[in-house]
Amino acid sequence: MPKESLNSAEVRDMMLAVADKIIEAEPILSEADRQLGDGDHGIGMERGMNAVKEKLTSEEPDDIGKVFMNTGMAMMSSMGGASGAIFGTVFRAGGKAIKGCEAFTAAEAATFFQAACEGVKERGGAKPGDKTMVDSLQPAAEKAAEVTDQPLPAAMAAIADAAEAGKEASKDMIATMGRAKTLGEKSVGKADAGACSVAIIVATMRDFVA
Ligand code: ADP
Ligand code: MG
Repeated sequence: MPKESLNSAEVRDMMLAVADKIIEAEPILSEADRQLGDGDHGIGMERGMNAVKEKLTSEEPDDIGKVFMNTGMAMMSSMGGASGAIFGTVFRAGGKAIKGCEAFTAAEAATFFQAACEGVKERGGAKPGDKTMVDSLQPAAEKAAEVTDQPLPAAMAAIADAAEAGKEASKDMIATMGRAKTLGEKSVGKADAGACSVAIIVATMRDFVA
């Protein structure tokens, strides 16, 4: 059954599904980072998502914003490094913006992705086009703002398409941030590892509500 709206327990179950998908994708994410960085992105995300599973199953969710915030906090405290702060911020800033909300619909999704994207840009200083996860997150946030009047499954499908297209577009970009920066033009042709993670996260959210 398509879900028009998620309560806090369903948001928790969606995030547990996201965690499993990211853990399953560890080899793909590590390989993407091996092409452009130091090859540890999948391992870091796996560690973060194992901490997320532990955190989310240890307490009863009563607020959808808090489920996302707990997700972000678990990632930040377990992953360390640049990507712990960056991916932790996605969920912490996104969750904070919908704290106290009782239902996750297309409107909350738009608020979540907008705040997540602004939070990441503020925290890490990346702009669109720098070949980072922002290149998947920002198109997702922009699309989310356009589909707030749609049922959640349709909205999440559009948002996931935008995240995937953004990840694909990152292939053509020259890295100007992080470890890939030293590769310069040699970074062209490969997708950014963090953008791959964003695309998987959003696709799993889409599949959960479909
Ligand atoms: P590290 O770079 O410490 O090895 P990871 O390999 O886990 O960390 O993550 C790398 C990913 O993090 C990159 O592919 C990129 O998407 C993202 N990233 C790195 N720095 C930034 C930043 N300043 N802003 C946004 N995303 C970033
Ligand atoms: Mg790395």
